[in-house]
Amino acid sequence: MAKRGHCAGSLRFSKTSGRCVSEKNPFAHHPCLGTPAWFSYAGFRRRKSTVGEDVETLKRRTPLLEYLRQHNWTGHPASRSEFVGLCPLHEESRPSFYVNTRKDVFYCHGCGRGGDLIRFVQLSRGLSFRQSLACLDPEITSEADSSAVLEEAAAFYQQQLDRCPEALGYLHARGVHDAALFRELGIGYAPGGTLRRYLTAQGYSFDVLRRLGLINARGADALYQRIVFPLRQGEHIVNLYGRSIGSAFAHRFLPGSKGGLYAWEKVRNCSEVILVEGLFDYAVLRQAGFSNVTCSLGTHLNDTQFGQLCEGQRTVYVAFDVDQNQSGQQAAEQLAQRLVVRDISARHVLLPEGHDPNSFFVQGGNAHQFQSLLEAAQP
Ligand SMILES: [Zn+2]
Repeated sequence: MAKRGHCAGSLRFSKTSGRCVSEKNPFAHHPCLGTPAWFSYAGFRRRKSTVGEDVETLKRRTPLLEYLRQHNWTGHPASRSEFVGLCPLHEESRPSFYVNTRKDVFYCHGCGRGGDLIRFVQLSRGLSFRQSLACLDPEITSEADSSAVLEEAAAFYQQQLDRCPEALGYLHARGVHDAALFRELGIGYAPGGTLRRYLTAQGYSFDVLRRLGLINARGADALYQRIVFPLRQGEHIVNLYGRSIGSAFAHRFLPGSKGGLYAWEKVRNCSEVILVEGLFDYAVLRQAGFSNVTCSLGTHLNDTQFGQLCEGQRTVYVAFDVDQNQSGQQAAEQLAQRLVVRDISARHVLLPEGHDPNSFFVQGGNAHQFQSLLEAAQP
């Protein structure tokens, strides 16, 4: 049985927030269903089959009446399968809150709200559906929910960016200054020490944050003092990349896969694609007006990334670092050879010695000059 983490202990039923929650949600829901009418478990299941099944398992494991009693609700038998008591969701002196143990649902004749266990957790704690699942059992909220937690973390870090002059200073020093691009890429900053408090207040347990690698055993941010880029695959965030602005090791990912090529959806139909190895290379090129750029987050492409490049007929301009130990150039050549075998045309963009696309622009290079490098690129 998973630890309940944040949700352990007695629940403080909110007398007022329940109403606010229902006002925020303009969609009426049927009292016998656990969720609003526009939401369907079936739709949820399509996205991540195990979660839909796990929801049912969770509800079987924790019947609503048992949950309510664990949280100090007292009900008296009203019929063979019904209990009645004071409503935990609104202030009242005469009991109008009914729990049907056969259907495992509740309905209050006073405030008109009803639903299943998850709906009750949503209303009583002011949480979203996914947050309620995470709250009831961190273990069932596997991949589909990981993405929701990462989404919250990324949004939080994004909010911090404007408040941290040192982070903005770093971005400017790396030649990245377009605020619209910050927003589009979701660039954020982890000042450290605040993420845990923020996410646990959203209903996510310490265990979930640890499992995702967002915090360390002491509860501190894993991406402490790093510029943060969310890495998406389709709509979902699959990882976060953090670039240290201090003395810590430069590059850091959360545990797990880095996913496919960065922002691949934007370029997958392009007949010519520029491939860079770092997100700061990506950012300066986008800022300079090159829209057909993607990034492999390192010189080693995983199978997903290599497969993406080979999806259709195209020319790939490989613009890796030209570093002294030649590792970027060797990686570029090896990649070009692998691509040619798959009938993909590859060109090697030769930057000046000691440069990557980022430093090329930071040290005064412009779009016109980079375009010339692309045109001079050899197979
Ligand atoms: Zn009520």
